[in-house]
Amino acid sequence: MAETFIKVENLSYLYDADDGNTRKALKDLSFEINKGEFVAILGHNGSGKSTLAKLLNIILTPTEGKIFVGGKDVTDQNMSDEDILALRKTVGMVFQNPDNQLVATIVEDDVAFGPENLGVSSPDIRKRVDEVLGYVGMTEYAKHEPHRLSGGQKQRVAIAGVMAMMPECIIFDESTAMLDPLGRKDVMEAIERLNRDKGITVIMITHYMDEAARADRVIVLDDGRLILDGTPSEVFEEEERLRECGLAIPQCTELIHKLRAEGISLEGECVSLEDCVALIERSLKKQ
Ligand code: ADP
Ligand code: MG
Repeated sequence: MAETFIKVENLSYLYDADDGNTRKALKDLSFEINKGEFVAILGHNGSGKSTLAKLLNIILTPTEGKIFVGGKDVTDQNMSDEDILALRKTVGMVFQNPDNQLVATIVEDDVAFGPENLGVSSPDIRKRVDEVLGYVGMTEYAKHEPHRLSGGQKQRVAIAGVMAMMPECIIFDESTAMLDPLGRKDVMEAIERLNRDKGITVIMITHYMDEAARADRVIVLDDGRLILDGTPSEVFEEEERLRECGLAIPQCTELIHKLRAEGISLEGECVSLEDCVALIERSLKKQ
């Protein structure tokens, strides 16, 4: 039986905008995320993804509704500062722009910053820093200056910094959006390994369909509402619905849908190029 890790119940969030108006950024969201799951949250700009991430990390508090993490109500008004610190230790966050999250002038000091704040002992910090830098493939850059690194390298240092706090869950808020294709690939691989090898629950916010395709589950937001929740294959079946909210399915999936519409029998899931090749190969061999 899968164990529920995060439970979101009828969550709404209203911003008070500068012009005196209010803006409902999230509307009555309910969903659960299991321990060890890799969930992608997909949505067009302004659909409420970052607002949701900030709520899950208690940077914002809900206007309505509740959030439970590990069975604990983290939206309880009586949460102490210690409780909030414990939550941030459990649920880490990596943002879009690596330049905004690197704080020190040397890579290894930057990675040590989180555990130092949590009061971890110096020898343990040393061990953690060495381990996580190795994990993200940045050991040789330990003494380098972060601002001289490439975007992908900076983002991997940021991931190492969050990992060093040993969270159970990491939220990535469009953490590959500012990277070139190579940097994106490196960071995606690091995220997948965290989930697969370390069992860390991953919530990956993205507007890249090919990234969402690699998750166990995809949740789609549109204008603050949860409109789809399922496996990548189930969600990509809803091509029209996705298009209406400004999202296009991966081209390989679209190709398979078009061929099926022409009456060609292609059985099985297709969310990646590899799936697409396998489906077509199988179909050709049957003929
Ligand atoms: P996303 O991350 O999906 O692009 P956001 O969660 O950032 O979406 O924003 C959701 C909606 O809330 C948008 O319409 C945005 O304009 C609005 N919004 C975000 N931050 C603020 C803010 N600080 N004040 C007022 N409105 C905001
Ligand atoms: Mg955002």
